[in-house]
Amino acid sequence: MARVIAIANQKGGVGKTTTAVNLGASLAASEKHTLIIDSDPQGNATSALGFPKDPARRTLYQALILGEPIERVAIDAQIDRLDLIPSDKNLVGAAVELISMENREYRLKDAIGPLREKYEYILIDCPPSLDILTVNALAASDAILVPVQCEFLALEGVSELLDTLARLRRSINPSLAIEGILLTMYDDRTTLSKQVAADLRSFFGSQVFESVIPRNVRLAEAPSHGMPVMFYDIHSKGADSYMQLAKEVIVNAQKRVGPGIERTDQGAGTAAASAAAAAGGGGGGSSSGGGSGTGTE
Ligand code: ATP
Ligand code: MG
Repeated sequence: MARVIAIANQKGGVGKTTTAVNLGASLAASEKHTLIIDSDPQGNATSALGFPKDPARRTLYQALILGEPIERVAIDAQIDRLDLIPSDKNLVGAAVELISMENREYRLKDAIGPLREKYEYILIDCPPSLDILTVNALAASDAILVPVQCEFLALEGVSELLDTLARLRRSINPSLAIEGILLTMYDDRTTLSKQVAADLRSFFGSQVFESVIPRNVRLAEAPSHGMPVMFYDIHSKGADSYMQLAKEVIVNAQKRVGPGIERTDQGAGTAAASAAAAAGGGGGGSSSGGGSGTGTE
């Protein structure tokens, strides 16, 4: 049964798409069948995975608005165990058309239902707003992962987003958890990055992932080559940081399931097993029990 994670922040340019693409590729490399849903009309995740604009390609629009079976819209991302539901600018129309549709907040949730059996992780790349597409993503998700750029006023931005989430939880998805807050574009040479990271950790505690994504030029270059950073430069700090994040996400999932039944859930996932071992068998450390289950409030 897939864990569905919306990657969302209403602020633009904070690393949502970079996280969707590179966490997705890292989970796939960790033997987890993963699907990335590009739910942003900008289509950045689609192009970053090497699919240039093509009017003939079916996209999330067909599934969301025209009711086509979603399995027919998903494509092989040309990476083992990684699939993609692409997007393009037609999705702008979807945002408008959804407004007048019945069950409008739950169209994505209903559409992806059949896919939950097929994948272990489904990551949804959201647009930089809290529009109806993002609401659909949050209604369809088990948890939200919030990338936060280490910059001035980051704390205020996240606090606002979490307030909105609390409201959404009351109205559309009571079981929505916080997968974690992810520090992105971290630059350890600047006092500002360090200060912002310290503030977020002291305020949100274990909800902040231990893994931190550094500012790394390879991460910025990889999309123009149409590939996740691990295929562009496996030795880069960017590739390493997203592998760490994938491990953390997998370990947190195992903690939620509990050691007793972990094997049935994970099947033969060898990487998952070694990730669990790396987590320090039993101790579990202080790591981000990452909003497991309940989230804030
Ligand atoms: P939008 O809100 O427009 O969808 P986003 O939140 O998805 O943006 P990205 O597209 O992932 O943000 O990143 C914004 C820009 O910053 C991109 O050019 C991306 O390549 C670059 N970028 C993202 N993360 C990093 C990083 N860790 N180091 C360097 N550059 C990065
Ligand atoms: Mg984006």
